[in-house]
Amino acid sequence: MNELGSFVCGKWVKGTGKPAELVNPATEEVLASTSTEGIDFGATLAFAREKGGPALRAMTFAQRGELLRAMSRAIHGKRDELLSIAQANGGNTRGDAKFDVDGASGTLAAYADLAAELGDAHVLVDGDAVQLGRGARLFGQHVYTPRVGVAVHINAFNFPAWGLAEKAATALLAGMPIITKPASSTALVAHRMVEIFVAEKVLPEGVLSFLCGSSGDLLDRLGGQDVIAFTGSSTTAAKLREGRSVVRDATRINVEADSLNGAVLGLDVDEGSDVMNLFVTDVVREMTQKTGQKCTAIRRIYVPTSKVEAVLELLRDRLAAVKVGDPTREEVTMGPVATAQQIRDVREGVKKLESCAKIVFGSTTEANAIGVPSGKGYFTTPVLLHGASPKPGDAVHTHEVFGPVATVMPYDDVAGAAALAGAAGGGGLVTSVYADDKDFVRAMVTAIAPHHGRLMIGSSKVVGQSLPPGMALPQLVHGGPGRAGGGEELGGRRGMTFYMQRTALQGDRALLEAIAKK
Ligand code: NAP
Repeated sequence: MNELGSFVCGKWVKGTGKPAELVNPATEEVLASTSTEGIDFGATLAFAREKGGPALRAMTFAQRGELLRAMSRAIHGKRDELLSIAQANGGNTRGDAKFDVDGASGTLAAYADLAAELGDAHVLVDGDAVQLGRGARLFGQHVYTPRVGVAVHINAFNFPAWGLAEKAATALLAGMPIITKPASSTALVAHRMVEIFVAEKVLPEGVLSFLCGSSGDLLDRLGGQDVIAFTGSSTTAAKLREGRSVVRDATRINVEADSLNGAVLGLDVDEGSDVMNLFVTDVVREMTQKTGQKCTAIRRIYVPTSKVEAVLELLRDRLAAVKVGDPTREEVTMGPVATAQQIRDVREGVKKLESCAKIVFGSTTEANAIGVPSGKGYFTTPVLLHGASPKPGDAVHTHEVFGPVATVMPYDDVAGAAALAGAAGGGGLVTSVYADDKDFVRAMVTAIAPHHGRLMIGSSKVVGQSLPPGMALPQLVHGGPGRAGGGEELGGRRGMTFYMQRTALQGDRALLEAIAKK
């Protein structure tokens, strides 16, 4: 049995006690086990704070950027190996694995580029200086400096590589050491990434610690200079928000949780048009990529009433071409969901959706997976539902099925579409709007933007270069209000500020300017 270790206090340590098992979700073969029991979390925190923090804070942004560049290159150098691990432990097709692993190296590289722009400074300037006195001397200036604690990163099972990298990129560039923890069930890719970073000595001591398994009482040991960046379910998020350090010591917490992402087809979009094709392509990709296990996957599809039948037909045709099976086989385009619990949740979730919608394509129990021993693996086909009378509060607007499942619903006018795609979703990461009609797009954006972290607008001018709505980009914020957790990550330098303290300086203008430059 491959027993995985954690990297703490500058060395690899194996836990004791009953381990969690990591499984190949296509074959149910156990690949590895892991435990963090017995690890000294107090010493882990002290090592990161005392070794990693000072080392990072002594560096300029540009120098920290070189660390990110080295991390990005190290992963890229072992790309094929990491892709194979993601396929085995995550049920990823090769394309899915690339989305995760290349997303990781790409995000680190993007932040390395930002670091070069920020240059030889240690302080991040926030906005312009403002005159405070009557004369031109007394000024105020806001600046950000790195918090002097530890950033604890807790990630979901679906993006073990990108999740580690996107959080690491912003924290390390800001100047905080990290303790990163993947979800236990799919930790193999993250484990291998950290092995690579350690073997290639890309980071100074104490800058990155790695917990492979439960975080035990680590979070209760945090203080006011530490931060928690969490990605996962809203149930776990609710527990973490009630944690002692969060409540008592104001340990900062960022939550990236569930989201019922929407796609809205405009009233002006004709069948056969480029925009209609973009809409259908996006919906099918977002439903099936990573077997629908993306926080940004499209779950709710709103279509003008007169076009519902045509859209259902188009989607059914494309979904019928999806080949479910062992994701290492070339012909397979969708693998299993990641765990036994996941397939149970997907089956129960679809039953819940059936309280307000009818299945019009697929089955969660009859996938006929290609290249898999009969009865093995956590497979489902894509499942499309049709909800003829959608309303706020029904299951499709309250329950996230974290698998290849989405529901088509009708709307009659822009106000109806905006009410369902906006407030009814309870707060989301991303919704895409497909239309050329400026008035429609403007009305949708103003109505649904308060409920979302990102909106993607697919119109005929951008058809050839549109980026998938499910792709979180380092330049744009990732996060959303309400159900989505109320958090914000990435977005260039915006993502760094979570790891920094904003301080208002007031004093002589020349002095403030000199500080801000350094
Ligand atoms: P989860 O069960 O909440 O687990 C997420 C992480 O939290 C795992 O690392 C898990 O560790 C850890 N964890 C669980 N209980 C904990 C506790 N009491 N204290 C500290 N850590 C704890 O979620 P999941 O099943 O992995 O992920 C699926 C969910 O994540 C979906 O709802 C999806 O929408 C959401 N998600 C959101 C985003 C986003 O960016 N908004 C991205 C991806 C996924 P163990 O695995 O070791 O238990």
